[in-house]
Parts: sequence; C-alpha cells; structure tokens
Amino acid sequence: MQALAVTPKKRNSFRIADVKTPSPEADEVLVKTVRVGICGTDLEIVQGYYGESPEGADYLILGHESLGHIEAVGRDARGFTPGDYVVATVRRPDSCINCQRGEPDMCLTGEYKERGIKGLHGFMSEYFVEKPQYLVKVTADIQGVAVLMEPLSIVEKVLRQAFKIQERLVWEPKNALVLGAGPIGLLATALLCLKGLRTFTLATGPRGNYKAQLAEVMGATYVDVNENPIQQIPRKIGNIDIIFEATGSSFVAFQAMGILGNNGIICLTSVSSGEKHLEVPSDALNLSMVLGNKVSFGSVNASKIDWERGIEHMKEMEKRWPGLLAKMITRRFPLGDFAQALGRRRDDIKVVIEL
Ligand code: BGC
Repeated sequence: MQALAVTPKKRNSFRIADVKTPSPEADEVLVKTVRVGICGTDLEIVQGYYGESPEGADYLILGHESLGHIEAVGRDARGFTPGDYVVATVRRPDSCINCQRGEPDMCLTGEYKERGIKGLHGFMSEYFVEKPQYLVKVTADIQGVAVLMEPLSIVEKVLRQAFKIQERLVWEPKNALVLGAGPIGLLATALLCLKGLRTFTLATGPRGNYKAQLAEVMGATYVDVNENPIQQIPRKIGNIDIIFEATGSSFVAFQAMGILGNNGIICLTSVSSGEKHLEVPSDALNLSMVLGNKVSFGSVNASKIDWERGIEHMKEMEKRWPGLLAKMITRRFPLGDFAQALGRRRDDIKVVIEL
C-alpha cells in the first residue's frame, strides 16, 4: 500500500513509500483510511524539528488526525463491525502511573508514544491497524467533518481541565479570549460559544476575512490584532476570565499572561519547538499573577473522555451551525499531492489528504 513517509529530523524528507499492508492481530481491527488532516506538528516534523521513527524503522508514516472505516475485525477484537466509521486517538501509554490509569495524555515520564509523531507510524496510509480501545465510533451525521475530531479533542481537554482547575474558587466566567484562528482556535471559539461565554477571537487577518466570518457565525467577535494590539484588549472587553492561546507562538503566550483578568485562567496549547528567547517584564507579570489569583497551565493531547465529549459536541455544533464545520476543511488533496498540501494559503484552516 502507499503511505506518506518521512525521515524524522531530516528536513523535507517526505516521500510516497510503498509499504506492506498491515494485517490485524487477533485483538486488532484493520481500518481503511478515508482522510487525514495535516496540522502544525506535521509541518514541524516535515521541517525536521520533531518526530521519531518506530523502533527498528528508518522512517515514520506521518498523520495523526484520522478518519476511516473498519475493513476487518480480529477474532478477539470487540465493539466494532466492518463498515463502522472511526477516528483513532493518538497517544499510547508507557508504564507510568498516569498512563497505567488510562491517562496517557498526562504521561509522567515523557516516554509515551504517539501515532504519526513519536515512535509509532501514523495514519497517512491506505490502511492501518489498531486496538479497539484506541478507536472512537463516528455516527453518520458527523462523518463528513469527523477528521476534525483530533483537534477538537485537544480543545475539549483544555476546557475540561480549565473548568476543573477553577473549582478552586467561586467562578462565573463571562469573557473568553481565543488567540489564533487556526483549527484549534476556531474549534475553541465554537466550544466556548456553545458554553455560552462572550467569546472574542483574535488573529492577524483583517476584519471580514474568511476565518473571521466563521468565528462570527458562531456568535464570537473577531478582533484583528493589527488594529487592536493585545495590551488594549482588556480595555475593550473587560475582565478576561479565560484565555485560550493557540497561535503557535510562545511570544504571544507570554504577552497574553499580562492581560489575563483577576481570578482568570490562561490555557497554553502551542507546541513551540523552536529556540526563541524572550525578555519579559517579569516583575509586573509575576505581581499581576499573584495579586490577581491567576492560573497559567499547559495542556497537550487528550484523554478518551475528551474524544467522547467531542463527538457529542460535534453533533451539537452541526445542529446549531449547519455546514460550519465543513467550511473549516478548506482544501483536499490526494496522497500524491502532499507537497502541494503543505503550502499554506491565508484562508486555509484545515487541509486534508483524501485516501
Ligand atoms: C497533537 C497531539 C500531540 C502533540 C504533541 C499535537 O499536534 O495534536 O495529539 O500530543 O502534538 O506531540
């Protein structure tokens, strides 16, 4: 079968490889891949900053945002039948206490594996095999947009964690600020709007651009950072209860800490694998975090519960804003045009590979 392979840590090493079609063990299922999303992490792997081949292999099959349908079911594999549509979770556990209790997204040692990223092949191939516990069933009503489930699971975890952390006080959040209007930023906008928060989505494009329009359909207010520098945002919207940082920039993350409101929480999600150094107003920042009882926390990956909630929320989003999620899938390419799929356009949100 064909697969998109890279040599990790080697820039632009991607190529179509002819690899053996996997056959499922008794406790596994064989999935026929339908489509796979491309995200910032894939780009970092392609650029040679990130990624790790499976043990013993000299290449990595890319792709961790999957949608496929079950082609065959191993003798002892339960819960799925051929034809079922599924999405696969990304991270696989090691032997630490968190992984062993079902939270590999909270791995203590960092020795977890991730499909398509770290130590395990991904999903950008015609078929893949997986154990049922790492698959989530997708119903017909959301099949067309379910390739967005992986990024949505990230958003689900962030907000689940944020609300859990904020049980530390009486907290009635009203204002949410999302930084970035990529897939994570827009899905965070959607979920915050579903939760009834007054949501502002800040990004670099001019007002009225494609991403701004989508944010506004959800009921959010779009803010162009070129017209409204980040420091001026609190004056415009009042106390910011929750900031969801999803720009990919550590610089923005630190700037944002400075505008968080009292009792607020800032959620950091950018995987910034560069080597930037930054001078920050550390006294002022520290003082405002202390005097304002503020929290800053990081969140990566997602737990199975986030995928399950994501499925429910995706259905709700489809009902509330019919057709909106589909508009986030901005371009589609066959596997052979992967190089073209990497070229980002201004209005691109999620680019996918159709298998
Ligand atoms: C993926 C996560 C993964 C993280 C770190 C992100 O792009 O969505 O599932 O845990 O990268 O590798």
